[in-house]
Amino acid sequence: MVTEAKDQPYIVILMGPPGGGKGTQAKMLVQEFGLIHYSTGDILREEARRGTPAGLQARAYMEAGELVPDEILGGIVRERLAALRPGQGCILDGYPRSLAQARFLEEIRGDMPCTVINIEVPEEVLVRRLAGRRTCPTCGKVYNVHFSPPRVAERCDDCGSQLQRRKDDQAEVVRERLRVYRETTRPVVDFYRGLPGYHEVDGSGDAAQVFEAVSRAVGILAS
Ligand code: AMP
Repeated sequence: MVTEAKDQPYIVILMGPPGGGKGTQAKMLVQEFGLIHYSTGDILREEARRGTPAGLQARAYMEAGELVPDEILGGIVRERLAALRPGQGCILDGYPRSLAQARFLEEIRGDMPCTVINIEVPEEVLVRRLAGRRTCPTCGKVYNVHFSPPRVAERCDDCGSQLQRRKDDQAEVVRERLRVYRETTRPVVDFYRGLPGYHEVDGSGDAAQVFEAVSRAVGILAS
């Protein structure tokens, strides 16, 4: 991996477990550096909604919670990277998720600079974050019973609705999601670890603290 961007488009691969704060960090990166955020999950959902051939093929896999075949996603990622302007950076979020995808990305990125940010969070913190999460079904506001509780227990501060818990945020399900994450992405992390441009960031602090480390890593490319 090269670590200087200058006039080339560049790639920031954002990795991290469910509940690791990847979404929040991606939003902050978009604001701070004007990066384009490519979440492969979002892209596939949009393709499926628009009824494109790739989207229609992907839909069945997504509904079953399985990984979409590399032939479908590879073309999409290649197109998005080719569309970047000189000096424009993008965040890859949710890609690569397997060793085959990581190798494919190495092939298609050519000499585009790339940095990998792996947000590491101890499992106990993740379970507390995810199992404590509550969402308002009416206005979408998100709370956490441990870190950002509503003023009245289980009621939305803004609209008073009864807060809900996502089915997959129960502690046992959370542990299973984390197990799957560790199994599928560990080889990808191992692939990148040790290469120049790989950064491991401690994600157990608050969003602003984590962003300090994340933005330092991206700043090397974006300057
Ligand atoms: P996500 O929103 O990242 O959880 O992704 C939702 C779904 O999109 C996943 O369950 C997969 O079916 C599909 N998907 C997203 N990214 C990938 C990827 N890199 N490889 C294969 N399938 C993916």
